[in-house]
Amino acid sequence: MNDIGILGGGISGLFAGRFLGDGSEVLERSDRPGGLARSFGERGFRSDIGGHILFSKDKEALAHSLAVLGSNVRNGTRANRILYNGLHVKYPFENGIDALPPEERLDIVIDFIENPHRETPTNFREWMYHVFGDALTNKYLLPYNEKIWKTAPEEMSLEWVGRVPRPPLRDLVKTAIGIGTEGYTHQLHFQYPAEGGFEAFPQAVAQGLGKRLTTGFDIARIVPVDGGWGVLSKDGEERRYRELVSTIPITALFDVLDGVPENVRSAAKALRFNSLRVALIGVEGESLPEYTALYVPDPRTIYHRVCFNHVFSPDLVPSGHQSVSCEITVKPGSELDQWSDEQILDRSVDDLVREGVIEREKIVHREVHRERLAYVIYDTGYADRVRVVREYVESRGIHLAGRFAEYQYVNTDACVRRTLDLAQQLRGGLAPEARL
Ligand SMILES: Cc1cc2nc3c(=O)[nH]c(=O)nc-3n(C[C@H](O)[C@H](O)[C@H](O)COP(=O)(O)OP(=O)(O)OC[C@H]3O[C@@H](n4cnc5c(N)ncnc54)[C@H](O)[C@@H]3O)c2cc1C
Repeated sequence: MNDIGILGGGISGLFAGRFLGDGSEVLERSDRPGGLARSFGERGFRSDIGGHILFSKDKEALAHSLAVLGSNVRNGTRANRILYNGLHVKYPFENGIDALPPEERLDIVIDFIENPHRETPTNFREWMYHVFGDALTNKYLLPYNEKIWKTAPEEMSLEWVGRVPRPPLRDLVKTAIGIGTEGYTHQLHFQYPAEGGFEAFPQAVAQGLGKRLTTGFDIARIVPVDGGWGVLSKDGEERRYRELVSTIPITALFDVLDGVPENVRSAAKALRFNSLRVALIGVEGESLPEYTALYVPDPRTIYHRVCFNHVFSPDLVPSGHQSVSCEITVKPGSELDQWSDEQILDRSVDDLVREGVIEREKIVHREVHRERLAYVIYDTGYADRVRVVREYVESRGIHLAGRFAEYQYVNTDACVRRTLDLAQQLRGGLAPEARL
């Protein structure tokens, strides 16, 4: 019997393997590890599954991420814009309002100061008005968030809003009178793999695991055996472990774990999420703007964000070409969920052309990537459901780590942090080869 079995080989599973070291093993269904952190593309055009960059307030987690990339790294500076009434406004919106007409700037500042929404917010809609005031909310935050979440903001809870910082009044006034400011400074400067797309990051972790990573292992059943666990693949292979760390989505875990009570199973099933389509469009020539991304709150446009891949790394495009990746969230079961790849591409191209982002005649490549589980939605029942699910898994002695395993809206830095903490808990520290 091996020591620790790690289910799933995305960033969480791979770092769990790295930090837990010898005696631990990672089992991944797909033929390539990396999960959401993989990249896709053909004919020299590459895209991530939605724009991915490395940044963090957690310096230790970031240092571990950069340590695995070694010299395959390039430094980037955020150059995002928001398409608002035909203007390209600097991101975040509140730090770009100097691009707006004076009357709109005035409304934003006055509504922020004289905000009548004083009462403690109980849902996401109330929170936006409470924190930002009417004008900032109505012009940008509300339409953008309705578009990305495809969920009424009054049905969303507040567990996740710590991710969205409140602008200091001084910065808002400075911006309004034309003195440049920066917001979300923790992600102003970032790192990105020089070669191989974001997937080079999980690949680098995987390389260090060697034979301790098994790909093509599609977990079909998990059963208690001799005080430990038996993990069976769809091909009938069995591995045995003393302990399990699960990084696969919680619903996938319950599909393969025996004995889950009905109330726990239904709590997991009721957890909500959005899917994602990424439309990768390659163009001839080098005339696209040097933006990292363009945010589009306009509800008439299908995508909410467009990433300019050559700005992340020239390695993502063939020489003499550039590309954009349009991110489109999809509510499972909605009409949009039924759209074919061609429909997604045609509509993305129409919108890109109408908004002046690309010229139709320069398009030389089009493809779509689909991802079912992309965004965790914090609806009003979220906290109770997640508590029921996590407490149950804990009672079975299985450790959860990761975005859809723990069911939270986290980036790779939080996945690295969780697995650092797990290594401390299970081993009393990091495997020697993983120490910085
Ligand atoms: C659009 C978008 C943009 C993002 N931007 C950033 C960013 O800029 N920076 C950042 O740091 N993070 C970003 N993230 C978040 C980041 O991608 C995730 O937090 C991270 O990749 C999650 O890793 P994970 O290992 O927890 O989960 P996953 O990547 O979901 O990995 C789970 C793994 O389990 C495997 N699996 C599932 N079922 C089975 C089974 N039955 N048997 C075996 N294996 C199985 C899957 O194949 C997968 O490899 C972004 C995410 C999205 C969607």
